[in-house]
This record gives sequence, C-alpha cells and structure tokens, in this order.
Amino acid sequence: MHPEKNVTKEWIGTIIAQYLADPKVNRLSDEDPEPAFGEPLVGYCPGDDPIFEEIKAHIGSFYWKPAEIFEKTFLNLSFSPQDLTVVAWILPQTRETKAEHRHSVEYPGKRWSLVRRNGEVINEGLRRYLVTRLAGEGIFAVAPALSPFWERRDSQGFGYASTWSERHAAFACGLGTFGLSDGLITPAGKAVRIGSVVAMIDIEADPRPYADHHAYCLYFNGKKCGKCMDRCPAGAITDAGHDKVKCKAYIRDVTSPYVEKHQLGVKVNSCGLCQVKVPCESGIPVREEE
Ligand code: SF4
Ligand code: SF4
Repeated sequence: MHPEKNVTKEWIGTIIAQYLADPKVNRLSDEDPEPAFGEPLVGYCPGDDPIFEEIKAHIGSFYWKPAEIFEKTFLNLSFSPQDLTVVAWILPQTRETKAEHRHSVEYPGKRWSLVRRNGEVINEGLRRYLVTRLAGEGIFAVAPALSPFWERRDSQGFGYASTWSERHAAFACGLGTFGLSDGLITPAGKAVRIGSVVAMIDIEADPRPYADHHAYCLYFNGKKCGKCMDRCPAGAITDAGHDKVKCKAYIRDVTSPYVEKHQLGVKVNSCGLCQVKVPCESGIPVREEE
C-alpha cells in the first residue's frame, strides 16, 4: 500500500462526523433513537512525539508507544515512528444524558447506562470504520484499543492500567488534561467517551495548549473545587486523587447490579457520577482570575 496524500484532517473529520450523523448508528439503543453522542472533537499528534516516552515512563514499560503497536500489527512493514500520526476523538455525552445524570446521587441515570453499554459499541464501530476507510485509501492504520494484543495491566504508580490508554492518546493530541478524578477534562468537558487510531499518514499535529497534565483542573490550580469528591458516593476521590480500587468495587458491587435489576437487565459498568454536576462537566472550568 502507498499512503494517499489526499487524506487530510478535513477528510478524517468528515468521516467521523458522517459516521456519527447516521441515526441508525448514533442512538441510545435499538428502541430509542435519541443520539448517544453530541458533536465530536478530533485531535492529532505525531507518532514520534516524545510525550509518549513520558507517558510510558509514568505508566509502565508495558505501555505502547504508537510505533510499538504498529510493529506488532504490521510485522513486515518498514516504517519510522515519524511516519505515524495518532488521531484521537472525544465523543461528548448529550445535554439530555447529562441533565438526567445530574439528578443521580447513588446510581447512574438510565441514559448514562445506555451510553456506557451501547455508546461504547458505537465508539468501537467508529474505530473500525476509520481504520477501514483509511485502508480503502491505501493507508495502514490500527485502533490499539481493539488490538488482540491489548491487555489490562497493573502499574506500580498508576494502579489498574493497560497497554494503550485512550485518555492519554487524547491528552497527547491536545484534547484535554486530567482532573482530580482521573477523567480527561476536554473543551467539551469531562462527560465524554474517547477513542483513537494510529495511522501511517503525515498530518500536521494540533497544538497542545498546556504544559502540565493537570492544567485544566481547578483543584491543581490553587482553587478549592473538589466537587467531584462530593459527587462520588464511594468516597473514591480524595485529596490523594482517584482510588481505582474503591471505584471499581463500587461499580462491581453497587451500580452494575443496579443497572441489571432496574435498568437494562444486564450488568453494565456504569457510574460516572463524578463526571456531571461538576465545574468541568461540559467544558474547561474557568478560573476566577480569567
Ligand atoms: S470537579 Fe473540580 S477538582 Fe474535580 S476534576 Fe473537575 S475541576 Fe478538578
Ligand atoms: S466512577 Fe463512580 S465510583 Fe468511580 S470515582 Fe466516579 S463517582 Fe466514584
């Protein structure tokens, strides 16, 4: 295959927008045609960006830099890390889903649970669709989160982790920074789902408009905030950050059985109470001096 020069940011943005514009795709469920996601944000960064080395040092040696998952996927392909581009996207929860979820205190709203279940199917479909469309243009591409090599791992400094993190890919692509609750605060807020693809294509990187990985969180910028701590019914968010073990236990023991019994008839790892009714829910929170 020979990389096709006509594939631009605009082309990729249109492919993603078209996929989500299909009401048969972007819907809460087969029975409910309400859209699962609002308008997406898309960002780009080079495959050889040194930020991936920093992320790897932070998370663990098992974490893939873009070239590492490319090597695993395309065994005999000759390429250099600088031939690659990471494309990441943000899929914002809709106004209706957030409005419903704001009333929730111990258990997630039903729309939120539907997006946790069906929305992630849509997000998976988008990863596959973009890879297929790129292949149609003669471009090698992989969605690391869907790779058969993708695994969950334990990180010494990070707790539960994995070989590829969509949030970190989006951070690298200039789409947001991390909050006290670990979620990515993006221009569309923290109530989002995230995806990414690595492609052998030359696309200009987007600026990363922050120097610090906590730049958008009020708590790390001298403000009290901590509203996500108050929203978490499990006490999993404290001054020490996000306790992934407590969070996971609450979802496993409380919200997932609740979703099965009262909402969808199946267990779903739905919670995200810390993502709404907080200053970073739907945008980058504004500091008073701004
Ligand atoms: S609610 Fe406040 S402290 Fe928590 S992530 Fe958002 S800005 Fe940071
Ligand atoms: S997802 Fe739920 S349990 Fe986990 S930190 Fe957020 S509010 Fe707490």
